Amino acid sequence: MPVIPAITTKLSIEDAIKHMARQDPDVIVIGEIKDTFLAGAAVQAALTGHKVLTTFHAEDSISGLLRLFTMDSDGFLTASTVSCVVAQRLLRRVCVHCARPYELTPMDLRRIGCEFDQMAGAAFSKGQGCSHCRYTGYRKRVAAFEVLVLNDPVRDGLIEGKTSHQIRRICKETTGLVTLFEDGFYKAALGITTVEEILRCLPIFHKPRSFGELARLLGK
Ligand SMILES: [Zn+2]
Repeated sequence: MPVIPAITTKLSIEDAIKHMARQDPDVIVIGEIKDTFLAGAAVQAALTGHKVLTTFHAEDSISGLLRLFTMDSDGFLTASTVSCVVAQRLLRRVCVHCARPYELTPMDLRRIGCEFDQMAGAAFSKGQGCSHCRYTGYRKRVAAFEVLVLNDPVRDGLIEGKTSHQIRRICKETTGLVTLFEDGFYKAALGITTVEEILRCLPIFHKPRSFGELARLLGK
């Protein structure tokens, strides 16, 4: 499959997309959707049978989907063409050289919104600080992901103008969505990152499900 370079000097992104679509590529990559024109062009390219990969800034996968939906003048086309939205946030990893087991305090449990019995099997850890991690307790990064796969109930919810709160509930009930916070919480419960780090970096919309339930949903 030939790779068609998209950008040359003197060529606007609008012109580049029009020219690319005429070359009939299998996959079109749009670096970032910044305005309604690009949103419309991406949807039109997807409607004509191209696989379109793109990025845009949003708080989480559902906010991203709603943002794209409101940028497209024919919102139902977005609902029909988007197949998946992946959100990610980077978290600092616990330094493996100075990691020690960490017992959650009652305050931690309150801040996470969990009961102690929901943590069965979890093994939290925290770095003590050493020369490898410049005495921070963290070294390298790990991503927390949220993968939203659109199914009919989610598409219907979008077209009916449901709120992000309602769509998030539909996603959790029908698509097995694991939220960013739940994925971060699962990684903290494996000792990969810390409770402090997920509370600092990830949005909490609902209480996370138990460690065992998340392990089942994530196929572990
Ligand atoms: Zn260390």
